[in-house]
Amino acid sequence: MDDKSESRSRSFPQRIAVIGGGLSGLATAYYLKRFLPDAIVKLCESSSRLGGVIDTERIETDHHGCFVIDHGADMFATEPPAAIELCRDLGVADQLIVPDTTRAGAMIVHRGKLVPIPDGFVLMRATKLWQMVTTPLLSVPGKLRFLAERFVNRQLSADDGTDDISVAEFVRHRMGAEVLDRLVGPLVAGIYTADIEKLSMRATMAPMVAMVEKHGSLAQATLARRRENKDRTERNSAGARYEKFRGFPDGMKQLIDTLAAALGEQSIQTETPINALHFSDDRARPWEIQSDQGAESFDEVVLATPAAVSARLLSTVTGQAVQTACEIAAEALSTIESASTAIVVLCVPKSQIARLPNQFGFVVPQIENRKILAVSFASHKYPIRCPDDHTIIRVFVGGALQPELLEQSDDEIVEMVRGELADLIGMTGTETLARVVRWNNAMPQYHVGHLKRVESIQRAMDQIPNLHLVSNALGGVGIAPVIAAGKAMARKISGAS
Ligand SMILES: Cc1cc2nc3c(=O)[nH]c(=O)nc-3n(C[C@H](O)[C@H](O)[C@H](O)COP(=O)(O)OP(=O)(O)OC[C@H]3O[C@@H](n4cnc5c(N)ncnc54)[C@H](O)[C@@H]3O)c2cc1C
Repeated sequence: MDDKSESRSRSFPQRIAVIGGGLSGLATAYYLKRFLPDAIVKLCESSSRLGGVIDTERIETDHHGCFVIDHGADMFATEPPAAIELCRDLGVADQLIVPDTTRAGAMIVHRGKLVPIPDGFVLMRATKLWQMVTTPLLSVPGKLRFLAERFVNRQLSADDGTDDISVAEFVRHRMGAEVLDRLVGPLVAGIYTADIEKLSMRATMAPMVAMVEKHGSLAQATLARRRENKDRTERNSAGARYEKFRGFPDGMKQLIDTLAAALGEQSIQTETPINALHFSDDRARPWEIQSDQGAESFDEVVLATPAAVSARLLSTVTGQAVQTACEIAAEALSTIESASTAIVVLCVPKSQIARLPNQFGFVVPQIENRKILAVSFASHKYPIRCPDDHTIIRVFVGGALQPELLEQSDDEIVEMVRGELADLIGMTGTETLARVVRWNNAMPQYHVGHLKRVESIQRAMDQIPNLHLVSNALGGVGIAPVIAAGKAMARKISGAS
């Protein structure tokens, strides 16, 4: 098979299909149009709406006013800068809002009560030691074990020689089981809705690995960063560095709508599930994509569907020249698991919550044996999206460790969540509005060895001419890395520098 970087004679105008209208597909299509203004870019989405796991609902009520509810992501990181750059490119950067930092901070459930995350603690590092020493989250032996982290050997590989370990192994080894169970575990698991015993350290916490590799321990790395005045933001945050995040006043769907408008109706085809791909080197346009509406030929095809769908599409490819590489890529891709979650959104009168925390939310350690993973007070982050006398609460349920909870009906899930909130924040009565948003197999799981898996997928994809893959299952699940990957792919296809 020719290397795909070898040029093939191109028909004009170039026709490029992007399959999947989530953020990966939209960002790729947008930058393809920018880098190749003469190309015909066609985005095919199976459902009736764009955005994939990103959606926002605006609900006007007769008696209470308007609620703006994000069904999925509600903010994005400004680092890497790809998301904020895209907003600038789209001309909407001035509309972005910063979460209301007066209520920034997060808590952890500890023996049934909410306890603040120690000030300055970010994921795995304590930038303010005194706060760790005085936190009620840890016992005295737990704190002493944490303080011993600087004396622990590096150990960044598994016993079997694999050049990766799980987040749980890393933290247990460096800081002890208590820090893992009570602090780091719930924080990291909350981000990835993952089992941290399986989550890859190198794929999800690369900066921490780099710090240990360079300085020997996280404590030494933190001291060095302090001398270089690098941890200013971290020292002022508990949990996440909220000033480094942005949202849209009308919810994350604003980003999707803006991207769709920039692409233009002629480039977008919804309700078009693609079910097979065919390759033929003899044709001027070598790729044919097949939907119920028929087949269409393209010069280049980008798969921007969830990993399992991309794997299935790759396994449908016919065309002797590429079939083996497609099968290898499909097989490797299908080993990346994904977890399901439900977000239960409750809009509740403040008068019905006895102990409403003045923080953005809380996470729930597995050892607390509760039926929720995390809670986010969305209206604390964005007060303009909710009537003053109400609170919007988003509760995460399920994930890699409690998938069985999602087998319940929506009503049962809401009832279960009400019970947990009654216990934890003193919520009484019923809410003004409730939504159960189910995201099935929507969170790719970056298990130990993930980077190797991605390498083998890329190697196989590199053998397939003019077929490309962008996916949140490969190089980052967040909005910013997803956009960065889409832009990089558009640059590669267009040859833009
Ligand atoms: C509950 C939740 C909360 C999150 N919160 C945050 C957050 O706060 N901040 C953050 O940065 N990130 C967050 N993320 C992550 C981020 O939103 C996602 O990683 C990103 O939006 C994924 O985009 P995608 O296009 O890769 O995938 P998807 O959104 O899954 O899009 C794939 C698209 O492909 C379509 N499709 C499927 N099959 C076919 C087919 N055969 N033919 C055509 N189209 C097809 C689907 O309908 C879908 O539209 C969150 C994710 C989830 C699930």
